[in-house]
Amino acid sequence: MAKISINIVWFKRDLRIFDNVPLSLAAQNCSVLPIFIFEPELWKEPDHSYRQYIFLKEALTDLDKQLKAIGGNLAVLVGSAIDIFDHLNSQYQINTIFSHQETWNLWTYNRDKAVKSWARDNKVAWTEIPKNGVIRNLGNRNGWSRKWYSAMSAPLTSVPPKVESIKISSDNIPEASQLNLSAEQPISSQSATRSAAIDTLNSFMNSRGQNYTFEMSSPTTAETSCSRISPYLAFGQISVREAYQITEKYARGLGNNNKKYSKSLKSFSSRLRWHCHFIQKLEDQPSIETHTLHSSFEKLRPSLSDHKVLEAWETGMTGYPMIDACMRYLNTTGWLNFRMRAMLVSFASYHLWLDWRLTAKHLAQQFLDYEPGIHYSQIQMQSGTTGMNSIRIYNPIKQSMDQDPDGNFIKQWVPELSNLPTQFIHQPWLLEDSILNYPKPIVDEKLSRTAAKEKIHSLKKQIKNSDETISLVQKHASRLRRKPRKNKNTKVVPSESDQLRLDF
Ligand SMILES: Cc1cc2nc3c(=O)[nH]c(=O)nc-3n(C[C@H](O)[C@H](O)[C@H](O)COP(=O)(O)OP(=O)(O)OC[C@H]3O[C@@H](n4cnc5c(N)ncnc54)[C@H](O)[C@@H]3O)c2cc1C
Repeated sequence: MAKISINIVWFKRDLRIFDNVPLSLAAQNCSVLPIFIFEPELWKEPDHSYRQYIFLKEALTDLDKQLKAIGGNLAVLVGSAIDIFDHLNSQYQINTIFSHQETWNLWTYNRDKAVKSWARDNKVAWTEIPKNGVIRNLGNRNGWSRKWYSAMSAPLTSVPPKVESIKISSDNIPEASQLNLSAEQPISSQSATRSAAIDTLNSFMNSRGQNYTFEMSSPTTAETSCSRISPYLAFGQISVREAYQITEKYARGLGNNNKKYSKSLKSFSSRLRWHCHFIQKLEDQPSIETHTLHSSFEKLRPSLSDHKVLEAWETGMTGYPMIDACMRYLNTTGWLNFRMRAMLVSFASYHLWLDWRLTAKHLAQQFLDYEPGIHYSQIQMQSGTTGMNSIRIYNPIKQSMDQDPDGNFIKQWVPELSNLPTQFIHQPWLLEDSILNYPKPIVDEKLSRTAAKEKIHSLKKQIKNSDETISLVQKHASRLRRKPRKNKNTKVVPSESDQLRLDF
């Protein structure tokens, strides 16, 4: 008997039907089988966690509802992608598998290489659509921003009015315990549905984003004043292009009427570009998940750390109130604002001199919005291992005073300190009596910072003009032109590094 001819839509991290090019291409003139492959081996990787698993399950249920509304049906299939495609290929005549290009962790990178070979050997076409302006096989960064803006301004893809869907039943997703995911991890309060994603973005555009630019840095205000769309971009309930175009629309609506809000939206819009700028780095160099971007920094820190030090950092027991409050908040909620993420990594990498690969794993598990391209690029930047970014070491005491002057955030998340007079909240060790259940500082802030600074600066000096440094800048740095700095006595021509500097 002749096999039924179908197109497969392989949903990956694009869990929506709006602005989903693979779906709309697959739905043209053919029966469609929409699938999501739940890969247990991927979920056993150390960068995965229970809260991400719960969020994914809700997103899949919601995606199925969205598909049902247009005549479709999502089949969630459990197993390895190759086994599943092999089985489907024996049952159906597969015309084309449509999916987005995925730039994710090393496991998915190798899986996609294996699927590519399988498709070639089995003469099955696999059409991968570029995602979020990230370019595969990019030679260098010249013109990248221009191309990104053009991709983001292209018309959004509408939902196909109807899909002729093949209906096969879904498999049961394995229990968390079968995947070694600890159900003790608190789940996020953010809902994973598409409508929650849109509501979150709209509320940011309508009111919450008003003070974004000057409230994003403090953990006390960032929770409401930041957009909070990161998990939706990571799992794909919204495309970056849709978020970008919604932002542009709101910005146009504001005109010149509210300069403060316009500034916030401009700043937010740049961050959408950063999102893709960082993912492009991983696309261009997948090894940054496991190796330092600049090879000279590979052995800078010991690969085996003092386990107790790592555990104190992971559990929020370092004796530095702001570090501990931020870590406990993150461990409980699954989210933390940018500056405090950077501070946690800076403290681990400089003051505690821990290898970034160890700390990256813990943070990946905590972040609901874990996005490898942003994650590893940022962690390496904040750990000083890229060889091309300026070194930034956050002083946790200063950050505490600046971002939580009254200590309210600290008191909420480190209840051992809740009765402390505000003057001691940032440095409780200045009190004569020790505090019950709260540790003394794990390291001396100034001594450890100075030692780290010396080591990192001396290595940076050695590699400043090396061939590797120059080629990394060519490959990864964004081309952002700055106006030449004006000096009343001299004429200044923009330097090469001005032209090739990173966005921030
Ligand atoms: C060590 C470290 C690790 C990080 N890991 C991740 C991660 O795994 N996933 C992730 O989405 N973000 C990561 N970030 C970037 C940033 O902290 C989060 O994107 C942001 O806090 C998410 O909250 P939001 O959506 O409210 O952000 P908003 O400030 O509202 O920004 C809107 C969107 O822009 C993007 N964005 C914002 N800041 C950055 C940035 N600095 N770099 C790249 N994109 C940015 C995100 O997609 C974000 O959702 C990391 C930052 C650091 C310092």
